[in-house]
Amino acid sequence: MRHSQERSRQVQKQIEAVRKAREASEKLRAAVALARPLGLRLRIFDALRPVEAQWALWNAKPDPEFLADPRRGSPHSRGVAVDLTLLDGGGRELDMGTAFDAFTPLSHHGRTDVPAAAQRNRLLLMGLMTSAGWDFYRNEWWHYQLFDARRYPLISDADLARPMM
Ligand SMILES: [Zn+2]
Repeated sequence: MRHSQERSRQVQKQIEAVRKAREASEKLRAAVALARPLGLRLRIFDALRPVEAQWALWNAKPDPEFLADPRRGSPHSRGVAVDLTLLDGGGRELDMGTAFDAFTPLSHHGRTDVPAAAQRNRLLLMGLMTSAGWDFYRNEWWHYQLFDARRYPLISDADLARPMM
């Protein structure tokens, strides 16, 4: 009996993971489709990050402004967040004012003290992503996630068909 309950919980978790992966990949495809007519492409830096990987990052630099506390759970560990930037037609990254993952207030949205071109590029990325159905994070210009990310279960390395850690 307990065995079958455990089994059914695992099946539920897998169904949820597939549903969520489909939702995220559909919205990512929508963003790609919006960028294409503008001669732009997306470059993904980071997406799924199992709970163990979030702990490793947190232990290296426990900064809640730029990293989700693993005890609360990162949307990356739920498989519904993506870190990305825009590429021009030549495959060059657009200037966003800071590097990806620069843990500085200059990475926040709404900064008027990064070059105007970088402000425009951030707003362009935000416009493409939010039009495609993603929510933004005000402290990181590169981070987008599905709305209500907490609806989705946390994924640990052991849950993956091919463990990453
Ligand atoms: Zn992120």
